[in-house]
Amino acid sequence: MKVHILLGAPGCGKGTQAKRLVEKRSLIHLSTGDILRDAVSKGTEVGLRAKAIMASGKLVDDNTVNGLVFARLQDETGDVLFDGYPRTLQQAESLGKFLSLQGIGLGFVIDIEVPEGALEERVVNRRVCSNNSCGAIYHLVNKPPVKDGICDVCGSPLKHRADDTPEAFRSRMVEFNATFQPLQAFYKGMPNYRCVDGLRSTDGIHATILELFQEQA
Ligand SMILES: [Zn+2]
Repeated sequence: MKVHILLGAPGCGKGTQAKRLVEKRSLIHLSTGDILRDAVSKGTEVGLRAKAIMASGKLVDDNTVNGLVFARLQDETGDVLFDGYPRTLQQAESLGKFLSLQGIGLGFVIDIEVPEGALEERVVNRRVCSNNSCGAIYHLVNKPPVKDGICDVCGSPLKHRADDTPEAFRSRMVEFNATFQPLQAFYKGMPNYRCVDGLRSTDGIHATILELFQEQA
């Protein structure tokens, strides 16, 4: 059993890459959100603690997240792909200790790198369908709707989220970088760390990641 990790800023495309990779390789896709929801619905002790923290509007702390992830890893026997975990240096260090105690190998740490200017461009041009049950996403330049301001799928008006302004983006990135940079530095020196150019097409990035796995096999 091995654990692989996908790293990258919000909007770098790691969720999409994770989905495509698990379709090709027999990997178990574990995102923190899924693990949290699962533990909450099962009503485990850590799950209930996480639920109370989320209900109070706070971010679930590192120890709680680690507890949930480790419990989940003990239930798995196949290779795992993490998407969104570890999120902090503390989580990464604890994961490292847990893996060596359990004799689980750390596989690839794949860092999908997209320059901040390009991430900002993606966010600022993003339009989303105002109909929540549809949720289609557009990009004014790369994937514009057929009719201006109208969803191709359901015909509802598109909206520009308040979170998708340049100002909101930049303040989010300041916060993100403060947490991400120490995490990235932690993995950068490791032999299985790979930086992947996230500016290419989804297909191109997917092909590069698959090659990594094929070389290893
Ligand atoms: Zn729609």
